Amino acid sequence: MIIRGNLIYTKDHTGYTTVPHGYIVVDEKGVITGVYEKLPEGLKDKPIRDYGECLIIPGFTDCHFHPAQYPQMGISYNKEMMVWCNDYTIPQECRMEDADYARKVYSGLVQALWRNGILHSIMMATQHLDASLILFDLMKKSGLRSFVGHVCMDQSTSGRTWSTTEEAIALSEEFIQKTLGQSELVKPILTASLSVICTRELMTAMGEQARKYNLPMQGHLGENMTEVQRAIKRYPDCETFADTYDKAGMFGGQPTMMAHCVYLTEKELKEIKERNILVAHCPNSNYNLLSGIMPFAKYLDEGVRVGIGSDISGGSSLNMFENMKAAVQQGAVRVINHSADRPVMACEAFYAATKGGGSFFGKTGSFEPGYDFDALVVDDTEVLQYNHYSLEDRADKLLYCADERNIKKRFVKGREIPEPEAY
Ligand code: FE
Repeated sequence: MIIRGNLIYTKDHTGYTTVPHGYIVVDEKGVITGVYEKLPEGLKDKPIRDYGECLIIPGFTDCHFHPAQYPQMGISYNKEMMVWCNDYTIPQECRMEDADYARKVYSGLVQALWRNGILHSIMMATQHLDASLILFDLMKKSGLRSFVGHVCMDQSTSGRTWSTTEEAIALSEEFIQKTLGQSELVKPILTASLSVICTRELMTAMGEQARKYNLPMQGHLGENMTEVQRAIKRYPDCETFADTYDKAGMFGGQPTMMAHCVYLTEKELKEIKERNILVAHCPNSNYNLLSGIMPFAKYLDEGVRVGIGSDISGGSSLNMFENMKAAVQQGAVRVINHSADRPVMACEAFYAATKGGGSFFGKTGSFEPGYDFDALVVDDTEVLQYNHYSLEDRADKLLYCADERNIKKRFVKGREIPEPEAY
């Protein structure tokens, strides 16, 4: 397959790579074999899918969100995160006990991912096994990539404990057994949502499952100071919040994603960098729940791997253009309040939302040879009716002005993905 259009992607966070009216050659396995300004002689008689003046960009990765909270986006913000969780989030997540309700919510969520060009996602479901399996099945049918996490917990902050340690370990094992090997694109991820609501025994067992089945792991880290203090109080032998995961074997070794990371010690930051842990920057959520502003520019400058997370429903939008814009604008606030010496540039947010987060899925999120062709065709041609803009300007403008209506096509591994059915 040969695709033609205005190509925009990022090889690193320092700037866009653009190819006006360029060509991407994709093999039968959906892997990019070449990117060209002019088509090589030997390929000139092959059929071309020509998208004219449209932009071709890598598909988005949403590194962190809670699918069960999809109906609650925009509700009850400006409350401290732990209070918000107890009063609004836990009651919503409890509704996933009802499998019919779970199917309805998750079906709508999967369609919303497709609409918003979120071709890759790292999800935290809930502690309800049937609902987690429904979500996995819907993702499998969608043709989109994801890591689906069944949430394990054996402690509580709300007065209700869901399962004993043994039960939680058994449910985690059952989720793996029922999902592993079911799909090339959708896989389970070991999920200790928060070390505060897990015993070390449970997290140690999950770390062992991750190694046994060669699976990734995820958790929340350093979202707000109340949470940090609770974690350290809960585990008196830990110097840092990260230690609460690390002492259980859930902080690196296997591919690991940690969400938020607003408040990290220098020791934690060093460990995250050395272990190549993916940080999910969730700027929308960090505003809505009064959590803080992650030092995004500093992390990039220090070589930390960062992606973007919508964190719905702490976050209020699955529009990844909007989430990238929030990351840029929060970088500006850090400059204004003198806590950063440089702003975050639009290309840096673009990089995090594509190649940064995409790295958790292998070679996705860029248009370099060897990468899977996971891409979006974006129609922004309305901007050209008054002025001529460079592709760099058009990329910047997307962050501030685009939404799902601009996304015209979605490809995963070279295959165009139709809108998922409603169930
Ligand atoms: Fe979260």
